[in-house]
Amino acid sequence: MNERSQHFETLAIHAGQEPDAATGAVVPPIHQVSTYKQDGVGGLRGGYEYSRSANPTRTALEENLAALEGGRRGLAFASGLAAEDCLLRTVLSPGDHLVIPNDAYGGTFRLIAKVVERWGVTWSVADTSDPAAVRAALRPETRMVWVETPSNPLLGISDIAALADITRSAGVRLVVDNTFASSYLQQPLALGADVVVHSTTKYMGGHSDVVGGALVVADSALGEELAYHQNAMGAIAGPFDAWLVMRGIKTLAVRMGRHCANAARIAEMLVAHPKVSAVHYPGLPSHPGHEVAAKQMRDFGGMVSFRVAAGEEAAVAVCDRAKVFTLGESLGGVESLIEHPGRMTHASAAGSALEVPGDLVRLSVGIEAADDLLADLTDALG
Ligand SMILES: *Cc1c(COP(=O)(O)O)cnc(C)c1O
Repeated sequence: MNERSQHFETLAIHAGQEPDAATGAVVPPIHQVSTYKQDGVGGLRGGYEYSRSANPTRTALEENLAALEGGRRGLAFASGLAAEDCLLRTVLSPGDHLVIPNDAYGGTFRLIAKVVERWGVTWSVADTSDPAAVRAALRPETRMVWVETPSNPLLGISDIAALADITRSAGVRLVVDNTFASSYLQQPLALGADVVVHSTTKYMGGHSDVVGGALVVADSALGEELAYHQNAMGAIAGPFDAWLVMRGIKTLAVRMGRHCANAARIAEMLVAHPKVSAVHYPGLPSHPGHEVAAKQMRDFGGMVSFRVAAGEEAAVAVCDRAKVFTLGESLGGVESLIEHPGRMTHASAAGSALEVPGDLVRLSVGIEAADDLLADLTDALG
């Protein structure tokens, strides 16, 4: 059976992960090594010479990621932001312009607005849930459209296929940050995107025990350019981190099933709660992106955000009172997390077009028993 015809769950466990040739170990070893013996000058075994350039454990993860996203090349980095930095500096030059979403991870906004901008790249913000707004934002010097769907923290949905039609005809690259969905729920390359970005820290790793990032591309030439920059810039995933992400990915499909089921129940409870003024979850038929999400995602994910009717201080108090939901940043782990985006993950977007409402609470719904999560939130809402 060739890999192309295998299902996601099978690829997650086997792609890039042949049993070790020397020992038969069924799990790829952690090759905690920096350099490799050469059999005579230039006589590399399997192409390995120095672990910044390539390391067998990282290779296993990179091949796995490429298979899961249906891409030609996967690349693993030290963090999601390291992956983003490599992508931005590979594709953009001074004078180029990129379109960014009006709702995105605060760190992505900070990287583009505070770091990349200093190198002569310009950017503008568009509502990427509206393809016409993205078309209108394109300029002659636009090289890239950046989309996060579902978005962080408002769970906005952008129509990847519709945006790909626009970017392809304009000769612009479409980048999709697939962190919130994970490779299991959504595969942007099949919908026409050029590059998939992941913070593997989140659902892909899935256990809140590693920081990592990834890029997957459909085009081998772009893959080569990115690999060149990955080596030239050096922010690679280390062997142990690569191994942890790979271990997480093996259970991604089963974890996502439970994340989605728990989140759907919590969203329903919140909709009916008198102290909650709005619930953002793409699985709700009332969500403006519900139909697009149903078309491009396998299920609606484990992230939910909501607004507390009594305002910002009340929202902060809900975060403080929760017990099973741990107060903390990050997302996508097996344990449920709660946070206040305005003062935590998205503080860097304050005063910008990406500023988030002060009464917003974000949940990363874990895989604990749903009844315990519902009871905890009910108590926290008071
Ligand atoms: C966390 C996150 C990132 C950044 O990833 P790091 O691994 O923290 O560097 C990027 N995009 C999204 C949507 C995220 O949630």
